[in-house]
Amino acid sequence: MQSEKSENPQKILILGGTAEARALARQLLDEGHRVTTSLAGRTVDPALPVGTVRIGGFGGAEGLANYLRAEGFERMIDATHPFARRISENAIQASAISGVPLEQHMRPRWQKQPGDRWKAVQSLAAAAEALPPAATVFLALGRQYLDAFTGRSDCRFVIRMVDPPEAPLAFTDHMLVLGKPASDPEREADLFTAYGITHLVCRNSGGPAGYAKIIAARRLALPVIIIERD
Ligand code: NAP
Repeated sequence: MQSEKSENPQKILILGGTAEARALARQLLDEGHRVTTSLAGRTVDPALPVGTVRIGGFGGAEGLANYLRAEGFERMIDATHPFARRISENAIQASAISGVPLEQHMRPRWQKQPGDRWKAVQSLAAAAEALPPAATVFLALGRQYLDAFTGRSDCRFVIRMVDPPEAPLAFTDHMLVLGKPASDPEREADLFTAYGITHLVCRNSGGPAGYAKIIAARRLALPVIIIERD
């Protein structure tokens, strides 16, 4: 299907790092806009969107405002991950400083379905506390969120990471699964079964990309400690 060309093509900055941001870049480019996507540079081999891509921090809200003005952007869209809070706060401030309008694309959170055995918590520390002794836990969290669990030396952790850690992790008993989450719930369920997982810990990120693990946990009747965003 051909996209309708915009009557007012603009220079747009997308704050990205998500599948939604990549879809948005494609859509806006097809509409005739000039699109730059900004990535933080956290992953070694990121999935790249179409259009121009820039990688790395801006140096806070001031830095982002300077960049917006220097490059002549007319619009900014925050399509970052719902748990990436700092960049979203910076975007609000940078918009106020620079006068470049900001739109926010926030995905809705996942809703509990029949069969889900969720325990909702508000923080990583509460998630760590909620685990019973001797649990075998699948941690589907970014590497910057793991520290809260290292004190639970009575549990065994299976940790999925996109890139290998730069330094050894401080867990008493853990195994690494390297790679991105599968989109097929059967594959996620096979992984949980193969490692004898008794509990899944993840954040309520919303969106389709990470939902297969939630379906897999439902099928296996696994308890899920789910960290909600405020
Ligand atoms: P964060 O805590 O909100 O941001 C920390 C700092 O990283 C920001 O102050 C900014 O540095 C830089 N930054 C973040 N996103 C950026 C972007 N899109 N372009 C340029 N600089 C960016 O962010 P985070 O939670 O570490 O997430 C980093 C990126 O990974 C985001 O783009 C997000 O969409 C993506 N991501 C995050 C998660 C997650 O679980 N948090 C999951 C999937 C994807 P300066 O202050 O120097 O500008």
